[in-house]
Amino acid sequence: MANKTADVVVLGAGPAGYVCAIRLAQLGKKVTIIDRDEIGGVCLNRGCIPSKALIYAGTMYEKTSHLETVGISVKGASLDMGKMNAWKETVVKKLTGGVAGLLKANGCEFLSGDAKFTGPKTLELKSKNETTILTFNTCVIAVGSRPTPLKGFEVDHDVILDSTSALSQTEKPESMLCIGGGYIGLELGTFYAKVGTKVTVVEAGPGLLGSVDPELTNVVKKNLEKRGVKLMIGVGVKSQVKTKKGVEVTFADGTKDTFSKVLVTIGRTPNSNDFGLDKAGVKVDSKGFITVDPQRRTNVPHLFAIGDIAGQPLLAHKGSKEGLVAADAIAGKKTVFDVLGMPAVIFTDPEIAVVGLTEFEAKEKGFTVKVGKFPFAANGRALSVVEPDGFVKMIGDAKTNRLLGVHIVGAEASNLIAEATLAIEMGATIDDLALTVHAHPTLPETLMEAADATLGHPIHIFLKKAATAPSPSANA
Ligand SMILES: Cc1cc2nc3c(=O)[nH]c(=O)nc-3n(C[C@H](O)[C@H](O)[C@H](O)COP(=O)(O)OP(=O)(O)OC[C@H]3O[C@@H](n4cnc5c(N)ncnc54)[C@H](O)[C@@H]3O)c2cc1C
Repeated sequence: MANKTADVVVLGAGPAGYVCAIRLAQLGKKVTIIDRDEIGGVCLNRGCIPSKALIYAGTMYEKTSHLETVGISVKGASLDMGKMNAWKETVVKKLTGGVAGLLKANGCEFLSGDAKFTGPKTLELKSKNETTILTFNTCVIAVGSRPTPLKGFEVDHDVILDSTSALSQTEKPESMLCIGGGYIGLELGTFYAKVGTKVTVVEAGPGLLGSVDPELTNVVKKNLEKRGVKLMIGVGVKSQVKTKKGVEVTFADGTKDTFSKVLVTIGRTPNSNDFGLDKAGVKVDSKGFITVDPQRRTNVPHLFAIGDIAGQPLLAHKGSKEGLVAADAIAGKKTVFDVLGMPAVIFTDPEIAVVGLTEFEAKEKGFTVKVGKFPFAANGRALSVVEPDGFVKMIGDAKTNRLLGVHIVGAEASNLIAEATLAIEMGATIDDLALTVHAHPTLPETLMEAADATLGHPIHIFLKKAATAPSPSANA
């Protein structure tokens, strides 16, 4: 057994850990970063990146077959899932290789192996060839999360898949049941529907996509149904048996159906139970997430936690931001995690992107709200790229006009949300968005027009009665 010492150890090289490690190095710290798997974590290897690559490819395939509207007819378009997967892997490898290079260039030492706390300042690191006891001053825990298992539907990566195996199918399944109507289930379900798999989504809860405003979800729901996706909402699954034809699933309402593949996406579970957190004295909440303070410090002062392991929302950019805050705190800078606008994007078709409060949340918090909506169907760019579905919904504080939330369902919502996030982060008013000149013809004009609609005077839709007269500067 070897012994080693380190100043700051980052445990986990996902988007939370590697960002933290690079920033620590930039701040002059000597950093050791550990991972038992590939650099890049779930996000780069088994999450955000491969899923978005496949979703893009699926969209291209579908569009190719539906270009008659614009006068283009493509004959004989075919799909090679094997090639699609191989291409997706090249994207992943480019990015993970890039991150490995950045860690090296910044002087971070990467150690490969499975780590476990043996005390508050020691880790046991098991690699292929040896076991090392690593003694450190500070540690940032960024060990992430894994798919939540579903009893009776144990993943075999053959016919019962989790998100990881669903991202590496080399043949198109005939049919697929997605258990769970959260964002991962709907994104992957949409991809498979686009490549021609007969998809069913079953969701035991009252609606799809949890806390997303149902007005937005309804647009996605309609488009899924147009693609032939069967939605079973408010229905659970009971049991399954594997047959020659695939998996026969019995639903809680007593009905049965057979699917070539079943995808289990019922949520994510923090990786907190198998690496000696108790030996380090770190507290977790009832769901297994590590509890942290605004600087992402755990109850043990020299131990920090960031990313999925530190709780909701389980999003890559949330983890990266926490990584920057923790790095600053470790380097002795004045810092705090005080994000006003945490965007979330769902890559369905059309995409959903949200930031800030929903109308319901704003009212619950006691705001008197003003709400405005602008449809993509009234935007020149949306029509000229054949993307008329969706709208921007804006929520403002009626007393101060401050922007409280922006909720978009429509093409490029993933990119449009950046402007809204900046606006919320800077404490912008609805007027700020309405008064900003937006280039024409572009999709971001929908944000300006939604702001105008919130103020009661949109140009490209007719509202019966203007809520407020346009401000003089808006006409100047
Ligand atoms: C299919 C899918 C699609 C997604 N799409 C998006 C998206 O579009 N946008 C978005 O923001 N988020 C998305 N996510 C979520 C995103 O991937 C996670 O929020 C993000 O990866 C969390 O980052 P992290 O650094 O906290 O943890 P992880 O990425 O989980 O990384 C943790 C790392 O720690 C390592 N590790 C764990 N335990 C140990 C140990 N004991 N010893 C050594 N190493 C260890 C693991 O090997 C892993 O590499 C998606 C997730 C999935 C599954």
